[in-house]
Amino acid sequence: MNPTVTDATAGAPDRTTAADRATGPASTNGPAAAGSGTTVIVRIRRQDGPDKPDSARWEEFAVPHRPNMNVISCLQYIAANPVTTDGRRTSTPVWDSGCLEEVCGACTMLINGKTRQSCSALVDKLEQPITLEPMTKYPLIRDLFVDRSRIFNDLKRVKAWVPIDGTYDLGAGPPITQELQEERYPLSRCITCGCCMEACPQYTPTNEFVGAAVISQARLFNDHPIGKALKPARLEALMESGGVADCGKAGNCVEVCPKDIPLLESIAAVQRQATVHVVKRFFTK
Ligand code: SF4
Repeated sequence: MNPTVTDATAGAPDRTTAADRATGPASTNGPAAAGSGTTVIVRIRRQDGPDKPDSARWEEFAVPHRPNMNVISCLQYIAANPVTTDGRRTSTPVWDSGCLEEVCGACTMLINGKTRQSCSALVDKLEQPITLEPMTKYPLIRDLFVDRSRIFNDLKRVKAWVPIDGTYDLGAGPPITQELQEERYPLSRCITCGCCMEACPQYTPTNEFVGAAVISQARLFNDHPIGKALKPARLEALMESGGVADCGKAGNCVEVCPKDIPLLESIAAVQRQATVHVVKRFFTK
């Protein structure tokens, strides 16, 4: 992943990206007048750093409308023209992005209060003014950019991988039935965006809950013919504090997941696996 991070001190560098190429070059005429029929009003929640809460503020920008534009293309325009609707020149907003095709999850933020990817948020489908805020469950780095390391650390905590013995040719893998493939494939679509955790009332910035995505990834690898070698270790990790028992079944995760992953089904499956694991452990002590 190659985060696109705009530096507030960096002036207006060339920021031509895949999204620019897809939607055409950004105008350099400066912000259009707010309220005109061809203008998109974008309000951004800004903060200069994690240790600068006093700098928290809203800034409003007017972006010339272009057909098929997305929120990222608005941010790119603002980065090149960081002038607010009241005519004040400001620093360029900071955000994270990578693939620009809803695969990396990096550009996730709150758009009109809903957690989603800014690359796939089309301006013509959004209410105006469009409000952009950082996710609230992860440490703020600056403006719209948050640190999602917790998700990746939790994936390590539950050993969410298939173990191999080396990097040499291991030969063909074990066959997987069509039925199992169909069960596992939807789980493999997770992009670790963090939406499910952002929307979860049980997942807070200060607790240890691993969240729906991590539990679902444990299920993905528990059900793999080779991955199941680590199933007992995964289940032990998920029975600790912050594990699968902390889910309150609110169901918000399923509502916001951009990949329609059956997260509640995964949580129920892992809870069943944990119960069987405990019973087996009791009789094999
Ligand atoms: Fe994002 Fe869905 Fe994965 Fe959660 S399960 S991190 S919402 S893709």
